[in-house]
Amino acid sequence: MNENKIKKLVILGGGTAGWMTASLIVKTLGKAIEIVLVESDKIGTVGVGEATIPPIVNFNQALGLDEREFLRETKGTIKLGIQFENWWKKGESYMHAFGSVGKNFPFCDFHHFWRRSCLEGNETSLWDYSLNYQAAIHDKFAHLARIQNTSLPGLTYAYHFDAGLYAQFLRRYSESKGVQRVEGTVQEVQVHRDTGFVEGLLLEGGERIAGDLFVDCTGMAALLIEKTLGVGFQEWSQWLPCDRAQAVPSAATAAPVPYTRSIAHEAGWQWQIPLRHRTGNGLVYSSAHWSDEQARDVLMRNLPGEALAEPKTIAFRTGRREAPWHKNVISIGLSSGFLEPLESTSIHLIQTAATRLAKLFPHRGIRPEEVAEFNRQSQVEMERIRDFIILHYKANERRDSDFWRTCETMDIPDSLREKVALFAKTGKLFRDYDDLFAEAAWQQVLIGQGIVPEDYHPLADALSKEQLADLLESLKTLIDGTVKGLPDHKHFLSLID
Ligand SMILES: Cc1cc2nc3c(=O)[nH]c(=O)nc-3n(C[C@H](O)[C@H](O)[C@H](O)COP(=O)(O)OP(=O)(O)OC[C@H]3O[C@@H](n4cnc5c(N)ncnc54)[C@H](O)[C@@H]3O)c2cc1C
Repeated sequence: MNENKIKKLVILGGGTAGWMTASLIVKTLGKAIEIVLVESDKIGTVGVGEATIPPIVNFNQALGLDEREFLRETKGTIKLGIQFENWWKKGESYMHAFGSVGKNFPFCDFHHFWRRSCLEGNETSLWDYSLNYQAAIHDKFAHLARIQNTSLPGLTYAYHFDAGLYAQFLRRYSESKGVQRVEGTVQEVQVHRDTGFVEGLLLEGGERIAGDLFVDCTGMAALLIEKTLGVGFQEWSQWLPCDRAQAVPSAATAAPVPYTRSIAHEAGWQWQIPLRHRTGNGLVYSSAHWSDEQARDVLMRNLPGEALAEPKTIAFRTGRREAPWHKNVISIGLSSGFLEPLESTSIHLIQTAATRLAKLFPHRGIRPEEVAEFNRQSQVEMERIRDFIILHYKANERRDSDFWRTCETMDIPDSLREKVALFAKTGKLFRDYDDLFAEAAWQQVLIGQGIVPEDYHPLADALSKEQLADLLESLKTLIDGTVKGLPDHKHFLSLID
């Protein structure tokens, strides 16, 4: 057994990735190892990223954070889903609402019953049966584990927050638990001559930070994993055409809505994320179709309030690090790859990578089996999310620009093509092993993007016409009644202070 024990972990980078990793590792392994985080005020952070998905609630709970304090400190609001506007067609919108839709039956998901009803001539929307959607559009929120007197799940939620403030909040948390923070810019990375393992970081000014295991959280710089160890990057730009973003905050004009808005434009899409003190805005676009000036113009013309700063432009590469863990370096955050924020998955990928590191922590030294497993899980996870994001671009009926026409005709990964074909013909849909997105998420995006199944599961025929009508009506009544009884999102937020 390799007994090169890991006694000291060095995290390089103090963005969201660095501090989330530091928090989780100090919480889980803080008694067994020493943890140092190096960050450079001179370089700063990417400074964007405000929308999350429900597992973030578990992450905060695992750390033992108080939700009210967290929301107060990060200017956070509640998020119940993402509204996609103009994605399928101009003027049409749908929501990827978190949580389940309707009531699933053994062997047969709810949407089959809904589809049968539609084929028999009823005009109901799938979203009539989503508690999250109804609460979101009516600006309602409260903690609700179950719908009263039923076994049906209540609200599933995530947060919008200022990721910079979240990183600062987690910094205070980590430091209070023993993480040592070093301010400085790395000038040279010292590598062992024979093994190629990273041994130390030499900072401007001469200080040397040695360690046994290094986490590369240097963002797009990828200083350790790429610039030092030369690990390659697999690009996915053939499927995801956007490669630039501009971000700008605007003044809050109304009470924050409990959902993210994603509005498609001629060569990209715009996000609107309501925080308590401002709205986060940005435009993700394809530089092959729009110049920075054109994109800036679209963004600034479509702000919900007065701009509070000049837009910041960020160029990005879509894809994944070929081996996020190599030798004694593990890349987490933007250094490990990037998928555009359409489904708010980047902070989540930090969460899962940090969790994976905690679970596979190589306390007795680097063993290839642990490295391989970490890399395998990372790859599967990212490829599944990639497919889900591609679906939004591929399944569109917009023909008003070159950008959308190209997306419609582009080739897609086999994994996605097969899933879409099965759903379109039969309504059947299966959650792949390790897919972050459950069936309800896929159903909503597929149907919302115009892929309505031709058929439904035969079990949906087990109900008589009257029983089916009763089922749908009673679910709708239950959801509408529940939403009516919920307090406003604004009221929930007012309790934070
Ligand atoms: C346009 C855009 C929108 C996004 N929106 C969302 C969203 O809505 N939801 C979501 O989940 N995610 C979103 N993300 C992703 C999210 O911003 C990132 O995943 C997250 O901020 C993590 O960044 P990071 O910590 O990896 O990198 P960074 O924030 O760039 O941090 C890098 C750190 O490394 C340090 N560093 C770098 N080089 C050195 C050096 N030589 N010496 C010392 N220190 C160094 C820097 O000082 C900094 O502390 C978005 C990303 C982009 C580009």
